[in-house]
Order: sequence, then C-alpha cells, then structure tokens
Amino acid sequence: MKRRLNTQFLLIAGVSILATLILTAAVSYELFRDEVYHNLKNYAQLFVSMDLETAQAHYTQTGNSTLRVSVINTDGSVSYDSEADVAEMENHMERPEVQAAFRSGEGFATRQSETVSKNNFYYAMRLDDGRVLRVSEESGSIYRVFFETLPVLAVIAVMIFAVCVILTRFMVRSFVSPIEKMAANLDDAEPVGAYPEMRPFISKIKKQHEDILKSADIRQEFTANVTHELKTPLTSISGYSELIANGMAGEKDITRFAREIHHNANRLLALINDIIRLSELDVLNQAPDLTEVDLYEVAESCVEMLRLNAQKHSVTINMHGVHAHALLNRDMMEELIYNLCDNAIRYNNPDGRVDVYVEAPEGHLTLRVCDTGIGIPPEHQERIFERFYRVDKSRSKSSGGTGLGLAIVKHIVSVHNAQLKVVSAPGEGTEISVVFP
Ligand code: ADP
Repeated sequence: MKRRLNTQFLLIAGVSILATLILTAAVSYELFRDEVYHNLKNYAQLFVSMDLETAQAHYTQTGNSTLRVSVINTDGSVSYDSEADVAEMENHMERPEVQAAFRSGEGFATRQSETVSKNNFYYAMRLDDGRVLRVSEESGSIYRVFFETLPVLAVIAVMIFAVCVILTRFMVRSFVSPIEKMAANLDDAEPVGAYPEMRPFISKIKKQHEDILKSADIRQEFTANVTHELKTPLTSISGYSELIANGMAGEKDITRFAREIHHNANRLLALINDIIRLSELDVLNQAPDLTEVDLYEVAESCVEMLRLNAQKHSVTINMHGVHAHALLNRDMMEELIYNLCDNAIRYNNPDGRVDVYVEAPEGHLTLRVCDTGIGIPPEHQERIFERFYRVDKSRSKSSGGTGLGLAIVKHIVSVHNAQLKVVSAPGEGTEISVVFP
C-alpha cells in the first residue's frame, strides 16, 4: 500500500510539475512576443515622426542589423527595403500584416525564419500617403525560448520533485501508520489512533474475529462432547459383549446384557442421527425450500405419532387451535414439533398433560407446546438450547435424550426467522412457543 501510494503521489507531482513548466514556457513566450511587437510599433512610430527619408538615412547610418524596414506601395510592390534589392522583391500584397495594415491601419504577423530556432516578427502600419511601412525583426522562436530556459526549468523541476519525494514519504507514512497500529492492536477495546471513518470497518473485523474464535471454541467443545457422549454407550456395549464372549454371563444374564447392548446401540444411533442432522443444518447456508404448509395439520400428525409414546408415560396429549397456512419447510416443522412434544412427554409427570396449540393472534402464526411436567429452573432456561446441555443428565439419558433436540429446534426456528420463547416454573410445567414472522 505504501509503495503504491508513493508511486501514485509522485506520478501526480511529476505530471503537475511538467504541465506547470510547459504552461509557464507558453505564457512567457506570449509575453515575449507582445514585447517584440510593442518595440516594433515604437520603432515604426519613431520612423514616421521623423519623415520617411530622414528615417531611411538614419536607419542606414545606425546600421541596426536586426531591424528591417520596408515601404510597400498601394499595389503591393516594395518601394524601399533596408536589406534587399527592391527590384528583385516579389509583390507583398499577400502578406497578412500588409493586408491588415491596408485594411485597418496596422497589422502584426509572425513567421518562421529559415532556421527553426528563429521567428520573424512583423509590424506594418498605413502611412498618410496610403503606403505601408513595415518594420520587422528576427528573434527567438518558442522552441528557442523553451530550450534556452530548459536548464533552469529542469533544475527547478528537479528541486520541486525532490521536495515532493520527501513530503510524499512523510505523508504516506503518517497516513498508513494509524492503520498499521490498528492492525497490530486489533484486540484492544478502543482502536488506537485509527481514523474515525475506519471505526465501523474495525468493529466489523473485530466482530468477525471474535465470532471466528467463538465458533472455533464451540466446535472444539462440541467435538469433546461428542467424543464423550459416544464413548459411554460404546464402553457399555464393549463391556457386556466381552462378558458374554468370555462365557462369564449366565443364561439369565445373557438376555439382560443383550437388552443393555440393544439399548446402548439405540442411544448411539439416536446420537449419531442428531449429530448428522445438526451438521446438516450447520452447513445449510441458504434458505430452506419453503412451501405453503398448514401448521395445524403438521402438528396434528406429530401428535398422533406420539400418542402411543405419551400413553406409555401415562400422559395425555391433545391438539388445539385453528388451521393456519404459512410458507414453511414441512420436514423441518415436523422435526421441530416432534422434538418439542417428545420433550414435553419425557419431562412430564404421570397423569400429566401435553397441549399443542396452533394459533394466529394478530396475524402472527404461533405454535405453543405446553406441558404439566417437571419444569425448568429459571437459571437453566437460557441454556437448554445449547448442544448437550441438560438440566438433569440422568433423567435425560434414561429417557433416551441426546441433549441435541432443542439445539436442532433452535436452528430450525432461526432459519425460519422465528422467535423462541420459554415460560416455565419448576414443578408446574413448561410452555415453549415459536412465533413466526
Ligand atoms: P434431551 O435430549 O436431553 O431432551 P434437549 O435438547 O431436547 O435434550 O433438551 C435439553 C434439556 O432441556 C433437557 O435435558 C431437559 O433438561 C430440558 N428440557 C427440555 N424440554 C423440557 C420440558 N418440556 N420440561 C422440562 N425440561 C425440559
């Protein structure tokens, strides 16, 4: 960045200096030409005031070599010239300064000399007798003016450029240093010396930085948890099967051990299914396929699916509310309602109730799963949606929980831009509601 800024600034400085020099040369030449014309005009007026013959004589005497005087007749023929033989001179009617003088009294012209470095400057004025007096002088052309002043201009340009190089270095350094400081102290609460304009940018980077660290932590914790969760049932399976293999299990034990192995294998399967589902939801970086879904109908089918399970727990499960359609992902809705109802049954008391409501108060589609179960203490309510977080570990495990159900629920709610709400009191019951946008 420093190098690029340096080059760009110096390029701008170089072009500006060059342009300034060329323009200065052009303006100087203009001034110089005006000066030459002014002098020629003065000479012409001086000659006229002297009377032409005296002037001619005076001019011949002084032998001024750079000044050339001519007198042109009304027909364009030259009647006097201080340098050439008038008999050999061509008609001057076509010369612009002569034409201008005949027409309006005076005229100026500049023409190139035989050498490129010189120009001829002409001033012509109409005399009282109708003829035209022309005074001309050979002087440096613009190229000459330019090339003569070039060494001085070059020295000035180099000096200015050197100053620019120093200033640019200083400026670029002072411009870049707050950014460098900021990059070095990204973890500071307040960015040191950074530009106010960069604050939003810094906050964003900082937030992303923190998010990356946080998600790395979460991933690490998740991996550690997964390993631990998988290890427990596997250890049981390995232990029971080893006992059977070594012939250390009696006839009656074999059935019991086999049941334990089956139970643990099922737990493993449930765990693996939930882990796969969560990682599927994690990589889902686009919106799910949404279709017009009747949430009541989906909830009702889940309730029917879980009725037998509820009966096993001596819990009654019922459906309430109205048919309400919305753009939702049907599979995800089934998963969400199933998980919430499954929890409401598992964390319930015998003779308890589970009530599922689908309503649309003020147009906000709402799903509520209410139970009369054990409830969740307030200090745990925030955390139950975390992966593998359980209020009562043994109850969760013995009832076949994986600790991932509500994490999946949270994910599904989030991809639908819905809101989750928990109202619960220990010993009284829990109500978890999902409010769709
Ligand atoms: P699990 O598979 O252990 O049920 P979840 O993610 O579904 O995992 O739930 C996390 C924890 O939240 C559970 O272990 C339980 O302690 C608590 N919980 C969830 N739903 C309820 C409920 N309806 N009543 C009481 N506690 C609940």
